[in-house]
Amino acid sequence: MSLLQVENLGVRIGDVAPVDGVSFAIDAGETFALLGESGSGKSMTALALMRLLPAGGRIVDGQVSFDGQALSELPESQMRTLRGRGMAMIFQEPQTSLNPVMTVGDQIAEALPAGLSRSEQEREIVRLLEEVGIPDPALRMHSYPFELSGGQKQRVMIAQALAGKPKLLIADEPTTALDVTLQAQILQLIKRLARERGMGLLLITHDLGVARHMADRVGIMYAGQLVESLPVERETGLERAFHPYTRKLMAAVPSLQRAGERLAAIPGRVPPLNQPFAGCRFADRCAQAFEPCAGTAPGWSTLGEGHAVRCHLAPQPQAARRAEAAQALKIPVPSRTPVLTVRDLAVSFTQRTGQLFGKQRIHAVDGISFELNAGETLALVGESGCGKTTAAKAILGLTAVSGGEVVLDGQNVTGLSERRFKPYRRLAQIVFQDPYSSLNPRMRVGDILQEGMAALGVGEPSSRSRDIATLLEKVGLDPDAVARYPHEFSGGQRQRIAIARALAVKPKLLICDEPTSALDVSVQAQILNLLADLQREEGLAMLFITHNLAAVGYLAHRVAVMKGGRIVELGATHDILSRPQQAYTQGLLASVL
Ligand code: SF4
Repeated sequence: MSLLQVENLGVRIGDVAPVDGVSFAIDAGETFALLGESGSGKSMTALALMRLLPAGGRIVDGQVSFDGQALSELPESQMRTLRGRGMAMIFQEPQTSLNPVMTVGDQIAEALPAGLSRSEQEREIVRLLEEVGIPDPALRMHSYPFELSGGQKQRVMIAQALAGKPKLLIADEPTTALDVTLQAQILQLIKRLARERGMGLLLITHDLGVARHMADRVGIMYAGQLVESLPVERETGLERAFHPYTRKLMAAVPSLQRAGERLAAIPGRVPPLNQPFAGCRFADRCAQAFEPCAGTAPGWSTLGEGHAVRCHLAPQPQAARRAEAAQALKIPVPSRTPVLTVRDLAVSFTQRTGQLFGKQRIHAVDGISFELNAGETLALVGESGCGKTTAAKAILGLTAVSGGEVVLDGQNVTGLSERRFKPYRRLAQIVFQDPYSSLNPRMRVGDILQEGMAALGVGEPSSRSRDIATLLEKVGLDPDAVARYPHEFSGGQRQRIAIARALAVKPKLLICDEPTSALDVSVQAQILNLLADLQREEGLAMLFITHNLAAVGYLAHRVAVMKGGRIVELGATHDILSRPQQAYTQGLLASVL
């Protein structure tokens, strides 16, 4: 019998059914990944297993048995013991999951089995911290979370989850908040620990690379249901996937091999789950939908050993694959007109060391140089803290420069005061990572777009409304968006608004700072397609700051790799990604899943 057996699980929160008829099993020592867009029901499934549903949520259907016990029959007191001792969960965001006013040692102690003396607890805490790779564990156990880096916090959360010796570990997007190198380290750690301890692992992710790298089997969820379940092949990964939704998710992942192709973004959105469904839930977004799809829900078909799919097209796999031909879109060849020249740019500042009167000089950007032409995308890559964002701020005149120069459209703008920089401000615009915090929630979209145009004197006041309607259309939004507030839009739509705001002042340089890292893979594909389209149509120079090397391969003409404030390697994208010269770049690429 499997360690975890989930049969026909159904969850309701009010009139919403976020999980509807989900079945899967996980054996001891096996890793099963649940994949899908936000809102597909992955996390709610995990919370239902732990019986930790949000207020108003209840299990309305199905059976969950764990280690031979039916969980629905356990009273809450036994469930509390089971959480931590039987199954434990690692969350996405260690920042909010760890208690900021308790030392990490005390937090791990809470999860240890009862009956240990303090000295036995301390020995176990040190052993656990050592196991998850925390240096100086005897010292670190007395640290508070704010004294640890993001990666160390995530390691502490893993130690806490392991403290009760669980048989099943549930990891809900455990590395989404981390940069690429840390992501690889943490995933390797989880995988190693699961293997060494013979734990079952339920991994929840929207990242196909992570699922492919980590899992033995994958279940793809859509609109509260599993639509496909298949083993991960050693050589080919998920290439045998059949369901149109799975194929679309795969086609939406950017890569160097797809440079020049159009990413297959999935049109539309996951349907609301407060309605009855007659047919296939994916029918509205499915390019292959045919006569029975809208009226009849597809049942399961078996396509091979451990491979089952819920689609009317099965078992005719070749039909599902036919429609995947990517629409060719050549990346525009950049011109040779430099829009931005950065020469020996340096940004440094003084920081306290923690000792009395102790100070040290931090060189956040340490003499970087590059040129960026009209119609060209230069990707600036590197780990968190390498100086990418500081360099962008220096180019935009948003942080003081301590050396070198920035030439924007032929004008040296280095160190200009706010007033003298104003005429050049419209030339360079930025799109930030987080579309949720970068738009003023109290302003309507139309006013957000007007504000920048009016402040920088772009366009005639009488024609701005018309210009804004054109702009919204260009970024794929309805003209009636002008009268709505940012909170009325999804993450991807807000990022479109942010791009429209940047374009409203007709810039020549667009700086995109991790513009897709907060978005699902399908929405990410839509935004990357949009940026490629806009660059082609507007001839923009684009500085693309990211740690997503797959997106770099898709979008950028050249790549500059930053480490410790310096550019350690710069060259054509294909050369850097396929033949990196520097050990640091090789390490970064090796971290990509
Ligand atoms: Fe598409 Fe029909 Fe299959 Fe649903 S059942 S995924 S609509 S082909």
